[in-house]
Amino acid sequence: MDLIRRRRKYFFATIILYMPLMWVSNKISPTFRSMAITFGIWVVVLFITALYSALARCPRCGHYFHMNGMSLLYLRRCLHCQNHINAS
Ligand SMILES: [Zn+2]
Repeated sequence: MDLIRRRRKYFFATIILYMPLMWVSNKISPTFRSMAITFGIWVVVLFITALYSALARCPRCGHYFHMNGMSLLYLRRCLHCQNHINAS
């Protein structure tokens, strides 16, 4: 379960990093172009971390922990077997 927790942490950290990242890039270079580049990089990183966490498998049932068919839900329980994120 540590792997899933770590991947979720990266994903949520990326979301939280959005505001300070845009603020910093605005301070360093307040042009539309550099802001757009920063935003573009952030979207790519978010996409990678989202994909990375989505592909984490549940250690109990072996299915994707956050993904059930086409739905991607960041719940604290496995979407297949209800295994809790803090279960050992
Ligand atoms: Zn499961």
